[in-house]
Amino acid sequence: MGTIAENIEEIRKEKAQAAEKSGRKPEDVLLIAVTKTRSAEEINEAIRAGVTDIGENRVQEILDKYDKVLPVRWHMIGHLQTNKVKYIIDKVSLIHSVDSLKLAEEIDRRAAQHGMMMDILVEVNAAGDEAKFGVGTEAAETLVSEILGSCEHIRIRGLMTVAPYAENPEEVRPYFRQMRHLYDRIAAEVDHPRLDFQYLSMGMSNDRRIAVEEGSTAIRVGTAIFGARDYH
Ligand SMILES: *Cc1c(COP(=O)(O)O)cnc(C)c1O
Repeated sequence: MGTIAENIEEIRKEKAQAAEKSGRKPEDVLLIAVTKTRSAEEINEAIRAGVTDIGENRVQEILDKYDKVLPVRWHMIGHLQTNKVKYIIDKVSLIHSVDSLKLAEEIDRRAAQHGMMMDILVEVNAAGDEAKFGVGTEAAETLVSEILGSCEHIRIRGLMTVAPYAENPEEVRPYFRQMRHLYDRIAAEVDHPRLDFQYLSMGMSNDRRIAVEEGSTAIRVGTAIFGARDYH
């Protein structure tokens, strides 16, 4: 591992290569630095090195760090409890982890109170992994329709998935491919002013290259930037 700045540079280069392999430009794939367990100092080092977007998976960590971190776009990438939506609604630019109508309705209600539109992704459990959050691939399209039908303050910007961990990331390529098909199908079939697909959020430190080759437009990378996490 190099310094945070060196790691980011390395990931950028490799992201550009993988994007090219799938017929896209480097800037078509967003790098989201996943900053859970990291200090504000480490996060600011990443921002100074050019990171524009950071991802956190716990509401409390967003609140603890929000005022200490340089201007940046915040992404909520972890499971979100309905009763915590109110704390982050005006702090994050994109919520990646919407997997129920109940959660969407609470986001909608809080966004309405703030007079804003909230951008979200629908989280899909592509591998049908019981230990993971997200709706099944068949249920995703239904949830998209339900949210469009009842949440006027939500804009659906795409889909997100967390692939199962695999020593050899080639093993999860089929899930990414399946996600890409689902993403393309919904984008083609659903014509609605509050559906504006831009993000297919998939790929983490271990499987990011495969994810980009299969069409990811946003990778969420923690360990490869900051090193292994220590949860104490
Ligand atoms: C922690 C986390 C990541 C980043 O994982 P790394 O393996 O450290 O890159 C990405 N997405 C989600 C949802 C996470 O919780």
